[in-house]
Amino acid sequence: MAVTAAESGFDLTLTAEQEQVQRTARAFASEKVLPRAAEIDEQARIPRELISEMGALGFMGICVPERYGGSQLDMLTYVLVAEEINRACASTGVVLCTHVSLAIDPILRFGTEAQKARFIPGLARGERIGCFALSEPASGSDAAAMRTSARRDGDAWVLNGTKNFITNGSIADVAVVFAQTDPAAHQKGIAAFIVEKGTPGFGVGKLERKLGIRGSDTAQLVFQDCRVSAVNLLGEVGEGLRIALSTLDGGRISIAAQAVGIARACLEDALAYAKEREAFGKKIADFQAIQWKLADMATEIDAARLLTWRAAALKDADQDHILAAAEAKLFASDVAVKASRDCVQIFGGYGYLKDFPAERHYRDAKITEIYEGTSEIMNLVIADELLRE
Ligand SMILES: Cc1cc2nc3c(=O)[nH]c(=O)nc-3n(C[C@H](O)[C@H](O)[C@H](O)COP(=O)(O)OP(=O)(O)OC[C@H]3O[C@@H](n4cnc5c(N)ncnc54)[C@H](O)[C@@H]3O)c2cc1C
Repeated sequence: MAVTAAESGFDLTLTAEQEQVQRTARAFASEKVLPRAAEIDEQARIPRELISEMGALGFMGICVPERYGGSQLDMLTYVLVAEEINRACASTGVVLCTHVSLAIDPILRFGTEAQKARFIPGLARGERIGCFALSEPASGSDAAAMRTSARRDGDAWVLNGTKNFITNGSIADVAVVFAQTDPAAHQKGIAAFIVEKGTPGFGVGKLERKLGIRGSDTAQLVFQDCRVSAVNLLGEVGEGLRIALSTLDGGRISIAAQAVGIARACLEDALAYAKEREAFGKKIADFQAIQWKLADMATEIDAARLLTWRAAALKDADQDHILAAAEAKLFASDVAVKASRDCVQIFGGYGYLKDFPAERHYRDAKITEIYEGTSEIMNLVIADELLRE
């Protein structure tokens, strides 16, 4: 069964250092990110200096060991930071979460010493941006059905194919790319590669226009006879799917934190509005119908945060966190979507207008049920874990 908080040694008390980092993230998010969130959404781009500032604060390399230029903080501290940034702006939040969880993490866990020394310091400082390229036009949930191919040719691998929906795709300097080396071997033929921007044959295709997280970059990546040096093979041939799936197990914890951040934005904005807006001679916060919505939001956000912290604590303790991460993502994304719907409702007609943040939260929340494994896939993962036991 699921590991309980006590079994995982999970203590709800944050350390002084965790509180300090949380305060720093909250101040940065409210002073630097939140005031630009509407503009980021409207212009569908994130100012590069915001990413550099996250680098300067140590957030872009938050879990990276100091010897590679990182902050060497734990996963729990990272989810505290992720909640704060996503509370301010989910577009900015996903740049951070993708970079930290999906690009840096697999290189740190599966890379050779030479790969880590070469790629991690620049990524950890936020001078370079990372992305993770698994999905394709015809394969998402069924990642093993990928068609991008990798053929060995002397001291290089030659990649051909198209990757779809890649977060940070057009702005990334370093991509972790998955490709099939032997279609007959199916999932045992998949390998992971580190591909740098500027490698001949590696280009950016279509930039996607989206419902929400509009400031975040979502691009197709195209590989046409792209020669990648054999020293850039990440892990072993045949290990690619395991690298991808274990990376997503960790990434889901950060998406759960993103969902908690979005849901908290909904609650805080709805609460403030309900205390100001009047109807029938009263503040709308005086109506029980509004109070119940706010109470449900607060309760569900706390529950989602606890699941997220538990999953982070398990990962920090090097314990199996597949089930805990899937539960946290499944629950927290549902909470975010519901909170965003209630937030719009509490704002009434103004909730439907661009002048207020409620409609942005409504559009942003939905993605948390889709990427890094849809809610249906989370249910499958959870059921698999239960049945396996
Ligand atoms: C904004 C955005 C950013 C993204 N960023 C990245 C990224 O950085 N890197 C990357 O590699 N990918 C990324 N993705 C891709 C994302 O992970 C996939 O969209 C997602 O995994 C779903 O895959 P799909 O879109 O192909 O849907 P499909 O897999 O085609 O699924 C369609 C529907 O069928 C359901 N379904 C599929 N299989 C089953 C099943 N076995 N049982 C029950 N239901 C099932 C799904 O839940 C869904 O409802 C991103 C997507 C978006 C929209």
